[in-house]
Amino acid sequence: MFYLHHTPVWLRWLFPPGLLWQGAAPQGNEVFLTFDDGPHAEATPFVLDQLSAANMKGSFFCIGKNVVAYPHLFSQIIESGHTVANHTMHHVNGKLTDAVSYADNVAAADAHIHSNYFRPPYGQITSRQASAIKSRFSDMQIVMWSVLSGDFDTSKTGAQCFEKTIRHIRPGSIIVFHDSGKAMPRLAEALPRTLHWLRQNGLQSCALPKAKGPLPE
Ligand SMILES: [Zn+2]
Repeated sequence: MFYLHHTPVWLRWLFPPGLLWQGAAPQGNEVFLTFDDGPHAEATPFVLDQLSAANMKGSFFCIGKNVVAYPHLFSQIIESGHTVANHTMHHVNGKLTDAVSYADNVAAADAHIHSNYFRPPYGQITSRQASAIKSRFSDMQIVMWSVLSGDFDTSKTGAQCFEKTIRHIRPGSIIVFHDSGKAMPRLAEALPRTLHWLRQNGLQSCALPKAKGPLPE
């Protein structure tokens, strides 16, 4: 499996304009932990416990059908002060979906999630799909990432994911983990170690601001 743990700036030019790859760090120590694909019966409570113990906040890019399946976990994410965000209703692949169906799937998830943040599953999104979303949700910020933990990669250990992740973290980094059953074997080690490392290095994970409108770059 080929993927880059860090998204180089040149690669970002291959994507539609207006995507958020990096957050703002006005205090110089903010980073943005994000968790894709939940809520999940085991992984989401684990992440919530870890964030609470570390006194850090994150953003959860939820799949609509999982929100329907686990409404209490979805509520718990919000009540704990984290940000919820849209990751489509059925985790659709932008490569295999036309722009109208794609935006329909985002809209279906919006009915359950109500967020002005969206992340495309697999990082796959075309300009037509981004435009179709923006035409229905003018305030929707499409959020990509600067650091991939690789916790979805079953050929890696949790320790390897942790080492790769911390090598690339800078103030403002948007970091991807997954609260999914598939990622759990690696997440269970990589997340607590990453939180500990952030604290040791004076960095604080913040939730993406819930106020509407795009973040300043
Ligand atoms: Zn996903």
